[in-house]
Amino acid sequence: MQDLGKSMRDLLNRQNLNSDYQRLIANAINDPDVQAFIKAHQDELAEDVLERNGSKLYEYVSQRDKLRAGHQVFAPGYEPKLVVSDHYVEVTYEPTEDTLLAQKRSMLKKRVHAVSMPKMIEQASFGDYNVDGEEEQRAKALRQAMQFVADYSQRPHEFHQGLYFYGNFGVGKTFLLGAIANELATLGYQSTLVHFPSFAVEMKNSIGKNNVAEKVDAIKQAPILMIDDIGADSMSSWVRDEVLGVVLEYRMQEELPTFFSSNFSMQQLSDQHLSINQRGEKEEVKAARLMQRIRFLSHEVVIQGPNRRPQ
Ligand code: ADP
Ligand code: MG
Repeated sequence: MQDLGKSMRDLLNRQNLNSDYQRLIANAINDPDVQAFIKAHQDELAEDVLERNGSKLYEYVSQRDKLRAGHQVFAPGYEPKLVVSDHYVEVTYEPTEDTLLAQKRSMLKKRVHAVSMPKMIEQASFGDYNVDGEEEQRAKALRQAMQFVADYSQRPHEFHQGLYFYGNFGVGKTFLLGAIANELATLGYQSTLVHFPSFAVEMKNSIGKNNVAEKVDAIKQAPILMIDDIGADSMSSWVRDEVLGVVLEYRMQEELPTFFSSNFSMQQLSDQHLSINQRGEKEEVKAARLMQRIRFLSHEVVIQGPNRRPQ
């Protein structure tokens, strides 16, 4: 293409600018973005591009301006772009940055299956896990969480022990589980987080409907499972053996990564929670079998610090 300014002047002189339409096209041609595009691609464009592609340039400018003004556009979520196609101009529509971000978010969300979990886990990230002051244990817990993600993503087909976070109410155990799940999601891995006390209630309610096995299967086969708040409610022998026991047995056999969070250490969970049934009787053998699976699947990590729940 020759001198851009000259061909534009020739064109404008030749055309009848009385009509509104011609005026709009002339404005589009004079638009700084359009001019910059034509200048950058002069060598590739045909000489009569302005005559032939006036309406394309107008389409580009008008859609771009509508989008900027927040008006309804022809392809919502997409923005117009000028491209060269076979020596002429075409308008293509590409997802806006907001659309790309929303697409990415929804894809990540689909990789994190949350069952009765607080909504705050959606926002949890390693970056926001503050380890202020002298809280060496929190820093250690965070390091172990990050180490798991690094190890798992390097060798996803090998067995990796999960983590068993314990500590007081509100120290951020659930938050850290959520952060691990979100980090894994950005790397393409799926995980399932289950608030265990709620799940246990749901299972009990499912007994009459004959779909316990189906729900237990979905949980037990999750590529990565996080059992949140184990020990928070008293557990019936049935939930312990037919739900938790079945899930953990399968995961141990299949060597599937499994995480836990609890207010109790493993020892406390064993002594105070799993060994005593709802009638107050000791069931130490069954408790010991369950603890053996928990210990195989996870590594105990204490988290201490202040209660971070909004008061
Ligand atoms: P826990 O499961 O130990 O009882 P949570 O994970 O529910 O504690 O955390 C309690 C509250 O504190 C939540 O609202 C969570 O968003 C917030 N929180 C926890 N840990 C952190 C952290 N490291 N940085 C920022 N906020 C946190
Ligand atoms: Mg919690």
